[in-house]
Amino acid sequence: MRIFAATSRYVQGAGALDDLGRYCRPLGSHAFVITDADMAKLLGARVTASFETAEMASSLEVFPGEITHAAIAELAGRARDFGADMIVGLGGGKALDTAKGVALKLGARSVSVPTIASNDGPASAAIAVYDEHHIMQDILHLPRNPELVLADTQVIANAPVRFLRAGIGDAISKKFEAEACAAAGATTLLGTPASLTGLMAADACYQIIRQHAVAAVRAVEQKQVNDDLEALVEATVLLSTLSFENGGLSLAHALARGFSYLERARGTLHGDHVAYGLLVQLVMEKRSQDFILELCGFFREVGLPTRLADFGLEQPTATEIRELAEKSMVSPSAARFAPPVDADQLEVAIRQVEAITAAQN
Ligand SMILES: [Zn+2]
Repeated sequence: MRIFAATSRYVQGAGALDDLGRYCRPLGSHAFVITDADMAKLLGARVTASFETAEMASSLEVFPGEITHAAIAELAGRARDFGADMIVGLGGGKALDTAKGVALKLGARSVSVPTIASNDGPASAAIAVYDEHHIMQDILHLPRNPELVLADTQVIANAPVRFLRAGIGDAISKKFEAEACAAAGATTLLGTPASLTGLMAADACYQIIRQHAVAAVRAVEQKQVNDDLEALVEATVLLSTLSFENGGLSLAHALARGFSYLERARGTLHGDHVAYGLLVQLVMEKRSQDFILELCGFFREVGLPTRLADFGLEQPTATEIRELAEKSMVSPSAARFAPPVDADQLEVAIRQVEAITAAQN
């Protein structure tokens, strides 16, 4: 058996935000929009106007910051009072996941409007819930993927470029993770082996990134939208999600889980963790040093990390490396790799990545 999951409508382009109401209209009449304080100030008026144009009722709610079960329950109560039939997340990963959590609680439709392209969350059915210390507590799942994902590339181009870089990190690993997951005979998050469509999406995602990422990063440094950015955003916001949901995850994402426990890496982004995790995975796959160095060259060009020092872990201690290896094993994705790995092997692989990238310059 195989299962394929995807968002039912994906809309992308400069200025697309002004058409949000029009694309939401087929989903219902009452949109409950969850966003953070900065986005409310920056984009709230445009969003509200787009719903007015579409003759829909909308309510803009500023969420507290961290995606906790308590925050979701509180917002769900307000959305119910408003009579919401769709929950729209507007912002970064936290706003979007909070909105998905509220949609899940109410059985309402889910809409994602990412204002940064930093990870594969917007189009995904998965919802990461954290505790107050930003340690992942749970992964919940919507019964269906968000009905609509709307990415305004001008909004994404106006955001700090470090978010775009992280999105590249979160997406570039997918080809290698899907292939490793399939080779291990492991299942995707849908509980079935990878579909061919999922594996092809992961490969296409990689090719598009290698072709367009450098020019797209340069464009966003100038806050400009060009064809390279349009191509890259399709890869990092749409294909990246199709890849992991339908192709499967592996060691790169296991390592990303481990990073969330490292005190000194606090504040660094998921996609950066995945990029480093991919290097560890490639060592575990016994790829040649030339192959890894070529990829590291690309990482440096787009500004992705290649060593622990890039996360603020100057001269990482033995304890930190051990903790990264051990906590990575907490992730179910650590088991989506053959032959089976343990913390000792990951620790050796991390040290090997450090040695390879230290020799780089
Ligand atoms: Zn990810």
